[in-house]
Amino acid sequence: MRLHNTLTGTVEPLRPRAEGQLGLYVCGPTVQGPPHFGHARAVIVPDALRRFLEWRGVDVFHVRNVTDVDDKIIDRARAEGRHPAEVAETFTRVWDAQIQALNTLSPHVAPRATGHIPEMIQLIEALLERDAAYVAPPADDAGAGRDVFFRVAAFPAYGKLSGRKPEELRAGVRVEHGEAKEDPVDFVLWKAAKPGEPSWPSPWGAGRPGWHIECSAMATKYLGSDFDIHAGGVDLVFPHHENEIAQYEAATGEPFARHWLHNGHLTLGDDKMSKSEGNIIALDEAIERYGADTLRMFYLQSSYRAPVDFGEDRLREAAAAVERLAGFLRATAHVDAEPDPGLVTDARGQFDEALADDLATPRAHAGLFDLVTRGYEALETGEERLVAGARTAVGELSGVLGYTFEDGGEQSDLVGPLVEELLALREDARARRDFDAADRIRARLNGLGISVEDTPQGARWHRVRV
Ligand SMILES: [Zn+2]
Repeated sequence: MRLHNTLTGTVEPLRPRAEGQLGLYVCGPTVQGPPHFGHARAVIVPDALRRFLEWRGVDVFHVRNVTDVDDKIIDRARAEGRHPAEVAETFTRVWDAQIQALNTLSPHVAPRATGHIPEMIQLIEALLERDAAYVAPPADDAGAGRDVFFRVAAFPAYGKLSGRKPEELRAGVRVEHGEAKEDPVDFVLWKAAKPGEPSWPSPWGAGRPGWHIECSAMATKYLGSDFDIHAGGVDLVFPHHENEIAQYEAATGEPFARHWLHNGHLTLGDDKMSKSEGNIIALDEAIERYGADTLRMFYLQSSYRAPVDFGEDRLREAAAAVERLAGFLRATAHVDAEPDPGLVTDARGQFDEALADDLATPRAHAGLFDLVTRGYEALETGEERLVAGARTAVGELSGVLGYTFEDGGEQSDLVGPLVEELLALREDARARRDFDAADRIRARLNGLGISVEDTPQGARWHRVRV
């Protein structure tokens, strides 16, 4: 398989450390609030990659962390009069439930930052030993604890992931008054506790870890050094991922991760709905409104690296695309011929080729839609083995992409026939030139979230969950 690597800026062969196995680390949520629709992309993209690799027989070990101590969590807890751990616990559960509702495979390990403080302290101590970190002098207002900073100048390779070099960064960074950094580009590894904050004992007094050190410590605890794939949203390249590399490699002298996979952003364009909802669409609402399959289709029909623009129209198209696959599986459920083996093998081969080429999910989907077209043609000509072959391939391969076709009402045994029945009545009305009645039926169906389109072959419908 070939995959784009942010570290080299090229699409290159994926060479796992151990044949047939693959370690995957994905930066998980900071549990300070519920997820929004944009967060789903950084979950769905690695999920599709993992499912594809597992389908190819690779043994994937998937780690996704939970950042459960953070300024925003502490601020929220303070505002709500709750313990920060309670806020973190609440939203860890909310995230888990909503991410599962997207039909994603659970990671094998979901390490929490607060459960790995000793590992982080160990890494910071190694950095101090190598002069790649320093303990700041005590601040005026502080208790006994001290801040610890990473010394960027001690790691000459700094900037290798993001291309942001310290000398250029220095020009743009302003040192805040009272900051104890030696160099404006240095970043915090350990924060001295302020009164009322959650803290852990350390060689530098009570405090808590900085965000970046969490991932360096937790990724390598479960995956070792030089692990296979580190994934996350493109917004994390700098500084988070750059700093993860610097911390681990400066502390150990060993490489951190081989392959860096970054998914593009969800952009909000000028869609009215996103504007009216404060530019953020809650994930649970999006799942409720559109269904998990449609959200998955929305993201996977685009190249994972490209930005995707949010829009109701695009979501409708995604819903129609899901229905095209699901509808074909329904329409061919009665076919029990032996599947044509050549067709199934070819379909698998093309699917494999597409996804092995930098996870080209748009191409893989195009292949599925071609199969649907061929399957319908074969249905018309009565070539049952070809129909069965297309059905087998569409079922298997859409499963590899993570579709369940279970979350829409259109899957129930009743909805399809009822809609067909109403469309037949509409057809009768049109035949006797009662266009008012025909339009009324169509409008009522629209009101129920069913879109009707007239084609030369007759009316086609699909369900839009709006
Ligand atoms: Zn991370």
